[in-house]
Amino acid sequence: MVAQKTVCIIGAGISGLVAAKVFKQHGHKITVVERAADIGGVWEPSRSYPDVQTQSPKDLYRYTSKAMPASYPEWPKGPQVHQYLTEFARDHDLGPYLRLNSKVVAMRRQPADRPGWTLDIQTGDGPATSEEFDFVAVCTGQFSDKNVVDHPGAQDFTAAGGAIMHSSDYTDPATLKGKRVIVLGGSKSATDIAVNAVKVGAASVTNVMREPLWRIPYFLGGLINFKRIVYARAQEEMFGGWGQTRRARFGHAIAKPFVWANWRALESLLKTQLKLKKCGMVPSTPIETVINCALPIATPDYHPMAADGRIHIVLGTIARYDGRTVVLSTGERLDTDIVVQATGWKLGVPFLPEDYRAKLVEPDGQYRLYRLVANPDLPDMGFVGFNSSFATVLCAEMAANWLVRYADSQLARQPTAAEMRDNIEMMLRWKRDERPAASVYGGLCVAPFHFKHLDELLEDIGATTRKRSPLVEKFSPPDADAFGRYLASAPDYRASGE
Ligand SMILES: Cc1cc2nc3c(=O)[nH]c(=O)nc-3n(C[C@H](O)[C@H](O)[C@H](O)COP(=O)(O)OP(=O)(O)OC[C@H]3O[C@@H](n4cnc5c(N)ncnc54)[C@H](O)[C@@H]3O)c2cc1C
Repeated sequence: MVAQKTVCIIGAGISGLVAAKVFKQHGHKITVVERAADIGGVWEPSRSYPDVQTQSPKDLYRYTSKAMPASYPEWPKGPQVHQYLTEFARDHDLGPYLRLNSKVVAMRRQPADRPGWTLDIQTGDGPATSEEFDFVAVCTGQFSDKNVVDHPGAQDFTAAGGAIMHSSDYTDPATLKGKRVIVLGGSKSATDIAVNAVKVGAASVTNVMREPLWRIPYFLGGLINFKRIVYARAQEEMFGGWGQTRRARFGHAIAKPFVWANWRALESLLKTQLKLKKCGMVPSTPIETVINCALPIATPDYHPMAADGRIHIVLGTIARYDGRTVVLSTGERLDTDIVVQATGWKLGVPFLPEDYRAKLVEPDGQYRLYRLVANPDLPDMGFVGFNSSFATVLCAEMAANWLVRYADSQLARQPTAAEMRDNIEMMLRWKRDERPAASVYGGLCVAPFHFKHLDELLEDIGATTRKRSPLVEKFSPPDADAFGRYLASAPDYRASGE
C-alpha cells in the first residue's frame, strides 16, 4: 500500500499545473505555491510581451488529456495559451489547492528521523511562515529570474530620461511608439520584440546581438511545417545520442557523409529562404552542432525587415552609455530612448540550501538530475519541467508521471541511488565530451532527443504500449494522444491516507 503524502508543488506554470494534476490523481494532498498573481508561468499576462506566441505548433504544445481548441492558430498567441492553462486547471479542479502571490523563500531538510522538508513561504509582503511537507516538486522553470545586464553609464542614461527594461517587462506596445529603440539579444524574444517595435511605429529599431544564429522558419521552404522535419524520430537518429551501442556507432560512421550532406542542404535552404547573406546574418557554426533548446524559430517579417533596414542589425554588444547615447562595441554611437534587454533568464533554485545546491549543480553549471527529474542526494524532492525541449508540455507531463511513481517507489524500473549516480555521470560525460550542444541551460534540454528521452521515461514508468506503427513512428512528430494511451497502459495505483 502506498501512503498518502503532503506534497508542495512550487510554481504554477505548465509544469506545476500538470504536477498538481498527477500527484492529486494519485491520492496525495497537494499545495501549489505560486509567487505570481495568476497561473501560467511564462504565459502569465503581466509578463508577456505583445504578440508573444509559441514556437511549438499547438499539437506539440499541449497536455495528453486536452487538445488546444480547433479555433486556435497553428502557433497560438500568449493569451490563448494562458486561457488553455486556465481551463486545464479548472478541468482538474486545481483552484482550491492554489496559493497565489506566495513565494517559497527557503527550505530546510527535516531532522534525520523524519522525511520531507520545511518550507518558508512568504505571502504578499507579509512575513514568511514555515510549513512541513513530505515531498517537494520543484516546477519553477528555467525562465523565472531575469538576467539583467548592467553596462557602464546605465544610471546616467536613465537619469537623462532613457529607459532600460527586461523583455518580460515590455507588455504595453505604446511604450515603444515613436521611440528610438535598441533590442539587445538574439533570441526569439529579441527578434519578436524588434519586429513588434517596427509594427507599433518605433522611430528606429536596432537589434544588437553577439553573433547571428541559425533560425528555423515556421514553414521550411515556405511550404513544409517545420514540425514534419525537426521533431521526427528519423531526424533525431541522425544525431549521436547518449549510451549508444557499438552497432549504433558503426551505423553512424557509415551514414556520416549522407547526414553531413543533409545538414548542408538545410543550411543552403535557410540561407536562401531567409536571405541571410543580404541581412549579414550567416552563422559561422554548422547547424547540427547547435540544434538544442536555444535554437530559435525565425520571427515572421524579421529577416525582410533586417534586409531592407527597418531593423538595423549590429553584431556586437553594448559597451557603455554616454548620457542618452548608447555606445556599441563596434564603436557605433546611437542616440536612444529605450533599451529592451532580451537577455534571458538566470537558471537556479535559489531557495534550496547551499549544501544541497552543491549536490544538484556541478561547478561548471551542469545539473545532476537522473532523467532530468531527480537526484539521489536530494531526498523527497524532484523537478518537473527541467527536461525542457521543443515540446515542453509533453515532457513536463511525462516527468510528472515519472516523479510521482519515483516518490512512491512505484516505477516499474525503480532505480537505486548507485544506478542514478552512474547514469548522471555517464550523461555528464556525454554532454561534455560528445555533444557540447546538450550542455545549454545547465544540460537541462532534451532536444533534439525527444523520443529517446520519452522512451526512457515510459519504460521506467512501466508503459506496455510505447510506439505507433513503425512508419508513423519514424517520420512523424510526437503525438500527445498516443502518449496519453501509453500512460494509460502503465500500472496505476492510488495512495491512501491513514
Ligand atoms: C516567450 C516564451 C515562449 C516560449 N515558447 C515555447 C514553445 O513554443 N515551446 C516550448 O516547448 N517551450 C517554449 N517556451 C519555454 C517555456 O519556458 C516552457 O514551454 C514552459 O512554459 C515552462 O513551464 P514551467 O512551468 O516549467 O516554467 P514557468 O512557466 O517558468 O513557470 C514557473 C513558475 O514558477 C514560479 N516560481 C518561480 N520561483 C518561485 C518561488 N520561489 N516560489 C513560488 N513560485 C515560484 C514562477 O512565478 C512561474 O509561475 C517559451 C518560453 C518563453 C519565455
